[in-house]
Amino acid sequence: MKTPRFETRKKRKRLKMRYLAILFVFLFATGFFIGKTYSVSEPSATLGTIKKGELPIPKLVAPIIINPVEKESVVEKHKVDHSDLEEKPVGKVVYLTFDDGPSRLTNQFLDVLSENDVLATFFMQGSNLKKEILQDSVRRAVKEDHYVGGHSMTHNYKTLYTNQQFVPEMKETLNLIHEITGTTPHLVRPPYGSAPGLQNEKIRQQLENEGIKIWDWTIDSNDWKLRGKPSQIIENIKGGTTRDREVVLMHEKPQTLAALPEIIQFYKEQGYKFGVYDDEHHFVLNFQNDDAL
Ligand SMILES: [Zn+2]
Repeated sequence: MKTPRFETRKKRKRLKMRYLAILFVFLFATGFFIGKTYSVSEPSATLGTIKKGELPIPKLVAPIIINPVEKESVVEKHKVDHSDLEEKPVGKVVYLTFDDGPSRLTNQFLDVLSENDVLATFFMQGSNLKKEILQDSVRRAVKEDHYVGGHSMTHNYKTLYTNQQFVPEMKETLNLIHEITGTTPHLVRPPYGSAPGLQNEKIRQQLENEGIKIWDWTIDSNDWKLRGKPSQIIENIKGGTTRDREVVLMHEKPQTLAALPEIIQFYKEQGYKFGVYDDEHHFVLNFQNDDAL
């Protein structure tokens, strides 16, 4: 049983709640309307092309207006991007990698890759990147969605590892690539591989501090020393292919160019997809087993 006095108090409370709800809806609707008007009129106001009869809304209103429609669409966009990032490749993937370019053969490598609809990862060397005549092929590689990473300036073992110029040289190389192509790569391939050269923890710490990643390989084609023997390069690669994810070390050499169509054919027959390095989806691949790189 409720007393009449209690009833009245409850009634009053209910009325108060209703009033607040109406006030809230009114404020919300007004804010939304002004927000809409403001967001539409802003670009023309900034450009100073206000048409007759249109009045710019004072800037002061802007920060306190929350436009629920716009906010929601931003959240939605992030959601979509996020799910894209989490998508992992399935099945067998091979990464074809070419070191020591750019060279007079780079365009021909790009032709073969394009004819076969395949992407690759290039590790280019500073002394070659500086040659203006080769820079168009570097830009072409990027334009055709290949990855161009660094491979040092000098390629000299003593300078890079004994004299610890690895990081300064890689930074210089990556900057050169940026100047030529506009991309900002973070991946480099250590000349001669990261073992034994990068046993030095100090250099590896410098790499980590600079946000530079390194990639060795899973298959060494030994192509650089097989001049005139493309079939041997193909055999080396076929023999080395055992994993679901392979990273093949090759160089911009004539014998490699000659072998490339058959190498691509082999991986297609084996059911591999062709991966290209992506800074956003890095995976660890170094002989030092350093997870930070
Ligand atoms: Zn090299």
